[in-house]
Amino acid sequence: VHLQTDLSLKPFNTLSIDATATGLAQVADYSELLQALEWAQQRGLPVLPLGEGSNLVVAGDIDGLLLKQGSDKVELLDASDDTVLLKVDAGKDWHQLVQWTLAQGYFGLENLALIPGAVGAAPIQNIGAYGVEVESFISRVHGVDLATGKTLALAHADCQFGYRDSVFKGALRDKVIITSVEMQLSRHSHPRCHYPALNAWLEDHGITDASAQQVFEAVVAIRSSKLPDPAVEPNAGSFFKNPVIPSAQVQALLAQHPEMPVYPLSHTQAKVPAAWLIDRCGWKGQRDGDVGVHPQHALVLVNYGNCSGSELLAFARRITNSVSEGFGVALEIEPRIYG
Ligand SMILES: Cc1cc2nc3c(=O)[nH]c(=O)nc-3n(C[C@H](O)[C@H](O)[C@H](O)COP(=O)(O)OP(=O)(O)OC[C@H]3O[C@@H](n4cnc5c(N)ncnc54)[C@H](O)[C@@H]3O)c2cc1C
Repeated sequence: VHLQTDLSLKPFNTLSIDATATGLAQVADYSELLQALEWAQQRGLPVLPLGEGSNLVVAGDIDGLLLKQGSDKVELLDASDDTVLLKVDAGKDWHQLVQWTLAQGYFGLENLALIPGAVGAAPIQNIGAYGVEVESFISRVHGVDLATGKTLALAHADCQFGYRDSVFKGALRDKVIITSVEMQLSRHSHPRCHYPALNAWLEDHGITDASAQQVFEAVVAIRSSKLPDPAVEPNAGSFFKNPVIPSAQVQALLAQHPEMPVYPLSHTQAKVPAAWLIDRCGWKGQRDGDVGVHPQHALVLVNYGNCSGSELLAFARRITNSVSEGFGVALEIEPRIYG
């Protein structure tokens, strides 16, 4: 097992926040994982799973062992004329998986192209983009109980997937490390192009009846042109979840702000874009020292230099306070906070 102690986490989180962790273990297989768990147990340290650090705020120094998985094997478990069942190890880079599946003629993941991170993290917040969520493809999640070292497998229903949510953020938070994910993909291409920005891009480029490959290319093009690259402007993607609020409250807000975009979820609830609320409160492009809201993306907080995790979170709190005062809507932070 490759174990480093007291190291800087700056290269391990896309917000590029500089703090230290007691240890970081990079494990290649189950036996190395058990060695790492034992190392932490002997020192009374918590074990904290780490992927590619793209959905993480390091709020301060971490008293704990970060556990990063190296294995990126993809296994074909089953194949029929219509579907394939893949078992993908947690360390596989998500976008590489998307590319690989399309090259094999396994369809479904094309809308989720270019989402940063590792496969092991994908179920945690049920990654989603352009009208598709990863849960539609997940049949089973394999993991290890951090307290006992025992392996476990959860069927789709046990994962309790929701919007940017799963059991791994709830009852199993900090209890399980995901080691591989089983996904069922289609051998027939059924592109989903209903998402407005995707649909508009395809129309603008004269593409009708798009193939899965064309959807993939469209998503890559849209994301590359729109989203700030963490390598240039360190960020963790959307910093706030889109709030889900009761329809009665939506009606009351619409009476005052008829132009507010609303995505109804049911008769009783609707989703409102956090970006719109933040923009309306005047935060887009605002900066305080080394932390700020991206000038083009109200949802993206950027570390413009050497901001600390606590500075970033204090800035985020000012945003949530002003949205709460202005609209009576509570914003929730999307990334996980460590330290
Ligand atoms: C520019 C940018 C764009 C983004 N766009 C999107 C988007 O469109 N849609 C979307 O859904 N997300 C998006 N994200 C967020 C991010 O890509 C996802 O949340 C991704 O799944 C995080 O993967 P990671 O490997 O970097 O996880 P990390 O940031 O390393 O980990 C996040 C948390 O997940 C948990 N975790 C990670 N791996 C494991 C494991 N193996 N077992 C148990 N727990 C684990 C840990 O609790 C950890 O704290 C974006 C981020 C960025 C920076």
